Amino acid sequence: MYSDVIIIGGGFAGTAAAITLARANRKIRLIDSGAPRNRFSKHAHGILGLDGAAPAELLQRGHAEVGKFGGTITQGSVEKLTRDSERGPWRAKLGGGEVFESRHVLVATGLTDKLPAVPGLSDLWGTRVFHCPYCHGYEVTGKKVALIGGANPPFTIRISKLLSTWTSALTFYPNGLELTDLDRAQLAGLGVKIVDADVTQVQADKATPTGVKVHSSAGEDTYEACFTGPDFLPNDALLRDAGCESTDGWSSVERGQTSVSRLWAAGNVVSSPDQVSQAMGSGAAVGIAIDQRMLDEDLAEL
Ligand SMILES: Cc1cc2nc3c(=O)[nH]c(=O)nc-3n(C[C@H](O)[C@H](O)[C@H](O)COP(=O)(O)OP(=O)(O)OC[C@H]3O[C@@H](n4cnc5c(N)ncnc54)[C@H](O)[C@@H]3O)c2cc1C
Repeated sequence: MYSDVIIIGGGFAGTAAAITLARANRKIRLIDSGAPRNRFSKHAHGILGLDGAAPAELLQRGHAEVGKFGGTITQGSVEKLTRDSERGPWRAKLGGGEVFESRHVLVATGLTDKLPAVPGLSDLWGTRVFHCPYCHGYEVTGKKVALIGGANPPFTIRISKLLSTWTSALTFYPNGLELTDLDRAQLAGLGVKIVDADVTQVQADKATPTGVKVHSSAGEDTYEACFTGPDFLPNDALLRDAGCESTDGWSSVERGQTSVSRLWAAGNVVSSPDQVSQAMGSGAAVGIAIDQRMLDEDLAEL
C-alpha cells in the first residue's frame, strides 16, 4: 500500500501528473472521487487538436493511460491527510476507512463553482450557462447574450467588458453587484446594455439548443446564450488542514511545492483561471518537479 506519490484528484491536472510520474517509473496511486469541474458539459473547447472533445471521454482515456504505464487508480474521496513527522510517510485516509501511504502527495482536487442564487441557473450550468469566454465565447460570437451577476464581483464585472469582444449584443444584469461610474461609462462605451433589475428565474428556451429566458423585475427576455460569474471556491481542505500557507484565500505554491515539505498542488485547487490545457500542463510540470525532488532526496542519502 506504499507509493512514491499519492495524487489526490483524477481530473485534468492530477491525471496528467499521474501519467508523467508513472512514465518516470515511479510507483503512484491516483485517488479520485470522479466529479471533475466541467462534468456538466458535453464538449470542451480550446484544447489543441481536440476542440469539442467530451471531457468525460478525455479523462477516461487519461485514466487508461495511467494504468497502461503501471499506475494504480483508486475510486474514492480522501477525507484526511496526516503525517507523524517531516520525513515520515503521508497517510491518506479515504471515506470508506482505507489508508494509503506515500513519500510525497500531490493535491489536485480542483475547485467548486458557487453560482449566484438565481432559480434555474444551476439546472442550465455547463449546457446553456457558462462562465469562461475563452472556453465558450467563440460559440456565441455575434449572438444575443445575457450575463447574469450576483456573485464574484471582480470576475463578473471583468467578463461584462471582455465578452464584448465576442458579441455586440450583450445584456448585463448586475443583479445586486455594484458598478462604479467608471464601469458604467466603460460598458456604455463598449455597447453593453445594463439592466438594473433583480433576476428572478432563468429557464431553457427550448426553441434553440443554447437559448435561455431571463425573468427579472424588468420583465422577460430571451437570449441565444448565457454567462454568469460564479464564486470560485478551492477544494483545499486537505491543504489547509496540513498547514499550507495561503495568499488571498489560495494555497501558495512555488512550482507546485506548497509551504509544507513533500506536499504539492496543481490545477484549479491553486489557480482558478486554469483551463483544461493549463491544468494538464501544470500537472505534468509538477509531476516532473516531484520526480526531480525525489532524485535529489535519494542523492543526498548516498
Ligand atoms: C461548466 C464548465 C465548462 C468548462 N469548459 C471548459 C472548456 O470548454 N475548455 C477548457 O479548457 N476548460 C473548461 N472548463 C474548465 C475545466 O473544467 C478546468 O480547467 C479543469 O477541470 C481543471 O482541472 P483540475 O484537475 O484542476 O480539476 P478537476 O478537473 O475539477 O478535477 C478535480 C478532481 O478531484 C476530485 N476530488 C476532489 N476532492 C477529492 C478528494 N478529497 N479525494 C479524491 N478526489 C477528489 C474530483 O472528483 C475531480 O475528479 C470548464 C469548467 C466549467 C465549470
